[in-house]
Amino acid sequence: MKPGIHPNYKMVKVTCACGNEFESGSVKDVLRVEVCSACHPFYTGKQKFIDAGGRVDRFKRKYNLS
Ligand SMILES: [Zn+2]
Repeated sequence: MKPGIHPNYKMVKVTCACGNEFESGSVKDVLRVEVCSACHPFYTGKQKFIDAGGRVDRFKRKYNLS
C-alpha cells in the first residue's frame, strides 16, 4: 500500500450547533454537527431545545466534562 493516501482515522473534537463539544473518531481534523446526544430530540424527548445551555451543562456534569 502507498503511504499517505489512506485516511488517518483519529480522535477529533466535534462541535455541535447547540454549543456542546465532545470527542469522536473521524478522518477529519474538525467536525461540526447540528445535533448531538445533548440536544437531539431522541435524547431530550422534545422536538426543540429551548433550554439548550442548561441541557449542555447537565450533559457535561453527567460525564464530568469541564
Ligand atoms: Zn448538540
